[in-house]
Amino acid sequence: MGIWRIQIATVAFIGWLLVAPFAPARVEPTHGFDLFSPQEEIQAGQQAAAQVELQLPLLPESDPIVRYVQRLGERLAAHAPGEKWPYSFHVINQKEINAFALPGGAIFVNLGTIQAADNEAQLAGVLAHEISHVVQRHGTRAASKQMAAQLPLALIGGVMGNTTLSRAAQLGISFGIGSYFLKNSRQSESEADLLGTDIMYDAGFDPHQMAVFFTKLQEQSGKQGAVAQFLSDHPDPGNRAGAVSQEVATLPAKKYRVNSAEWASVKKRADGLTPMNAEQIAAWQKDHSVAPAPQAGGVSADASMLQFDHGDYRIAYPENWRVASQANSSIVIIAPKSGSVNDVVVYGVTMGNYRSDKAGVGFGGAIAGLVDSLRHSNPDMREVGQPEDIRVNGVAGKSVDLIGHSPEAGENGKAMRERDWLVAVERHDGVLIYLVFAAPENDFEELRPVFEQMLKSLKLK
Ligand code: ZN
Repeated sequence: MGIWRIQIATVAFIGWLLVAPFAPARVEPTHGFDLFSPQEEIQAGQQAAAQVELQLPLLPESDPIVRYVQRLGERLAAHAPGEKWPYSFHVINQKEINAFALPGGAIFVNLGTIQAADNEAQLAGVLAHEISHVVQRHGTRAASKQMAAQLPLALIGGVMGNTTLSRAAQLGISFGIGSYFLKNSRQSESEADLLGTDIMYDAGFDPHQMAVFFTKLQEQSGKQGAVAQFLSDHPDPGNRAGAVSQEVATLPAKKYRVNSAEWASVKKRADGLTPMNAEQIAAWQKDHSVAPAPQAGGVSADASMLQFDHGDYRIAYPENWRVASQANSSIVIIAPKSGSVNDVVVYGVTMGNYRSDKAGVGFGGAIAGLVDSLRHSNPDMREVGQPEDIRVNGVAGKSVDLIGHSPEAGENGKAMRERDWLVAVERHDGVLIYLVFAAPENDFEELRPVFEQMLKSLKLK
C-alpha cells in the first residue's frame, strides 16, 4: 500500500506540474463478494430502518439536534467515494454510546454518543466511520458470505426469478436491530477507519479526533458498562490511532475546522437532556406493544383512532399502534410494537406505492406485478382465489387474499400460516397505492374489523 501511494503521489505531482491541480492519494473503497444489487441493498436497508423506527425511541425530525446531525452527516457524505447511497441520519434517544449504519445509507446515532463527544470533529468521526461502512457495503457483504455458506451458489439469485432478497428472507437473514450483520469484523473496522479518515479530511475535520474518540471509549469501557455496545459493534482493529495518523501523513497538511457555533448550542441542548437507558427502552418497548397471539392486536374496532398524514394519502390507525416511515422511502408500516419479527410485519399493515415497469398492462397487470414484487420479501406467499374489485372511498381498487408462512413460530414451534390481505387503488397517474394487512391466520378474523376500519378511512390526495 505504502509504495503504491508514493507512486500515485508522484504521478499526481507530475500531473500538477503539467496541467492538473494537485490530487492527493485517497483510500480506494474495497470491493468484495456481494449478492445484493444496489437496489436490493437499499430495499433491505429501508425495511430494517422502518423496524428500527418501531422498536427504538427516535428523537423527532424537528428536534434541532436531529436537524444538526442531518446537516453534519450530509456534509460528510458529500465526500464519500463510490456509489451514491441515499444517506439519512437519525438520533436515538438512548443513553448508551452507540451508532450503526444500515445497508443503503440509514445511519443511527445514540444521543449518548453526542453527549460523550468532546468536540464537533469527534461526532463527525463517528458519522464518517458509519458512512464508510455503508460505502464498503459491509453489511450485505457479510450476509452474502453467510448465504453462500448456506446455499449452493447455483441456487442464489437469478434462478427461477428468485432474487437475493427473497433468498435472504428464506434464510432468515435481515439487518434490523440485533442483526448479526450489523456487528463488524476487525477487518471491516480498519477499512471504515481509513476511509473515514479521508472523508473527515476532505470535509475539513481533523481525522485524528475520530481515533481520539474511539480510544477514549476503549479506555472508559473497563470503568463503565455504557460503552460496551459500541465496542462490540465496532471492535478495535488494533492501533486505531496509529492507522489514522499514518493515513493522515499521506495527505497534505491542512488547517482543520474549529467547532461551529451550532455545535455549541446543540451540545448544550444534548447535555441537558436525559436519554433513556437500555432498561428503560426495554420497558418502553413493552408499553408500546400489544400482547401477541392469542389476543392478537388486542385492539377492537372502537378503539380511539389517530390520523397518519402521508404525501400521497391519509389513513386512520389505532392509537396504541405506531407508524414507521422513512423520508426517502414510500414504505410505511403501521403496527403494534410487538407486531414484527425479523423485520417482517406479523401483525399490522405495510403501505407503499408501486408503478408497473411494463406499459399497457392495465390495472390487472399492474396488480400481478405488485404481487410478484411483494413475493420478494415473502417467497412462500400465494394468492387465494382471484383479485376482486372493490371501491375505497369512491376510488376503484382490487382486493387480493394471500397466504404464506408467518415469521412467527406457533406454540408447537412449527411455522404458522400468515394471512395477507392486499388492497390496491390506482391513482390518476397510474401508480398503485397499496396496503398489505397481515396477521397469523388464526388471528386474522379478530383483526379484520380494525383493518376494515383503517381501509374505510383511507383518502388519496
Ligand atoms: Zn465500525
